[in-house]
Formats: sequence, structure tokens, C-alpha cells
Amino acid sequence: MIVSEINIKLTILGQWGVGKTSMVNTIVGKDFPSMYIPTIGSNIARKEYRLTNNHIRLNIWDIGGQRSFNPLNPVFFSNLDSALLLFDLNNPKESLQEIKDTYLKNLAKYSPECVIYLIGNKSDLVKPEDSEILLNNIRKYQIQGFPIVFVSAKTQDNITELFTLVVYDFLKKLEKSGNEAQFQGISKNFLTSVAKSENQLDDLIINIDEIDSNTLHNKITPKFTKKNVKFTKNEFVPLKEIKDLKKIREFDIDKNKIKENIYSAFKNNLVVISELISELKKSPINALIENIDKSLNDLSNLNKDFELKLDSILELEKSDKNN
Ligand code: GDP
Ligand code: MG
Repeated sequence: MIVSEINIKLTILGQWGVGKTSMVNTIVGKDFPSMYIPTIGSNIARKEYRLTNNHIRLNIWDIGGQRSFNPLNPVFFSNLDSALLLFDLNNPKESLQEIKDTYLKNLAKYSPECVIYLIGNKSDLVKPEDSEILLNNIRKYQIQGFPIVFVSAKTQDNITELFTLVVYDFLKKLEKSGNEAQFQGISKNFLTSVAKSENQLDDLIINIDEIDSNTLHNKITPKFTKKNVKFTKNEFVPLKEIKDLKKIREFDIDKNKIKENIYSAFKNNLVVISELISELKKSPINALIENIDKSLNDLSNLNKDFELKLDSILELEKSDKNN
């Protein structure tokens, strides 16, 4: 039996601090970060789902949201199958504006076929009495036509389910394209393998025009706590935007941690791209050329990303010397 590899390219976009990195860490089983560390450039994580005849790999690109030192590189918007546009339920206005002004426009231009989801993160911080204001705030932005899901990277609420939805939607699209007979029935097989039903996935999606604050609150109240969540004092200190790496010492952030993250993201990205290239061998033959092009494209993105990472390290070193 031929086992085919299905690679899905998913990008997580959103303003700095909305919880992109925390969300990726949660889905790949890493610890929830205990402090805020800005992401430099991109970091690719992989989540694997094994079915009998198919391996599904979700390649998740986590991209730094601080514009000052993470210039928005159009190449990060190309060849996407799916995109999660994250906003902060605790600070919806700014983060939704950023989605409208920047991310939606770039996606329409560079990946018009990509399936987009609008994700409100930090649902653990939404108080019942604030739900109505929150709903009105979101409605005001009129970002329509995309499924909306509320999650918490911290309590892990709806996180596994959200990624299941992304993969499920992709597989349904793949079946509809009808190019390969071997993919028929794959979306159902996938749901069975993760023990979820279509109804459970439908339940995730919030109809922002019709939902009332009570229903919303019932929806986002965790059914059970998946993790022992400790709320520290720091939790309520508002996040501050870091605009300049040279001035990083003004923030209560361990500079070495940033450097460590840059190094490990760099090494990790290289491993991912090598794996992607070696997996080309298992690509369905009619998709081979297209997949080679995509890999070359990813490789050139990572080249630019490498330069950005190197510059950032040099900048952090410089700020060491001036200290
Ligand atoms: P990024 O810049 O979008 O990658 O954001 P991070 O993942 O680095 O998170 C920014 C800050 O928000 C960190 O201090 C996280 O601890 C916090 N955070 C992220 N997700 C959640 C969440 O679901 N709930 C709460 N309460 N805090 C979160
Ligand atoms: Mg980040």
C-alpha cells in the first residue's frame, strides 16, 4: 500500500502579543511560555497526523508580529493553504484593525485561495460582564465571511479542536478537487482518527451576528480545565510593544532567551525544510512539480529569514556592548 504525504502550509498571523507563539507551543506540546519573548522572523512547527494510508503534516509558520524588526515580507504570505488571523479578546480593537489593514490585504494578494479563520485568543480573560462589549467591538470591524473561533492558548481551550477543523476543511477541499481517487473518504477517516465529530467542529464556530452574550459565555467557558493554570501577578501587567531590539534592556526580558530562541528557530527551520524536501519523494506524481516549486519558495523565504535573524543577533550583541 502506498502511503502518501500530505503537507498543509498554515500561517499564524496577528499583531505582536496576541498569542501566536503560545498557541503554537500549546498545539505541539511545548510548555506555555512563562514570559513574553518577541518572535524574530519565522519559526516553523510541525504537527503530524497518521492515518492508515496517509500521513498528514501540518506545517505551522509562526511569524513575528512586531513590525519594527519583523518587516512584513510578502513571501511569508505565499503558497498558504490556510491562515489563522489572531486577535486578542482582551484588546480586540488594535489587533482587529491590524488584521483588516495588513493581513487580509496581503493574503488576498499573495494567497487568494487560502482558507482564512478569524481567531480570538485569551478567552480565559473574558469576564461574563464584558461579553456584550466584546461582541459589539468585534461586530464593528465587519470582518465577514470567515469562521470565527475563540480559544485560549493558556488553558488550551478549543486549541486541539481548532487545528482539527483546519485539517478537516483542507481535506474536504482536497476530496472535492477530485484529482486523486485515493483521497476519497480521507476527511471522514481523519475525524475518526482524532475521535471528533463534524458537529463538534461546527460548534466551535461563533456566529458573530446572531450570538448573544450569554450563549457566548457558555460557549467559551471551559468544560473542564485541561491544564493546571497558575495565574501569576504578572498576568495583569499590560504588555508593552518592543519597537527596537537595541533598547531591549528597558524591558524586563531575558535577552539571552531571545537569542536562544533565534538559534533554535534557525536550526529547527533548517530541519523542517530538509524534511519537506526529502518528503517530495512521496509526493503524488502529478503534484510533484508544484511541490518542488513550493519547497524552493519556502527555501528562499528562509534565506531572507536567516538574514533577519542574523541582523537581530548582531543588534542584541550591540546592545550588550552599550550596556
Ligand atoms: P505573539 O507575539 O503573538 O507570539 O504572542 P505570545 O505568544 O508571545 O504571547 C504574548 C503574551 O500573551 C504572553 O505574555 C503570553 O503569556 C500571553 N498569552 C498568550 N496566550 C494567552 C492566553 O490564551 N491567555 C492569557 N491569559 N495570556 C496569553
Ligand atoms: Mg511570537
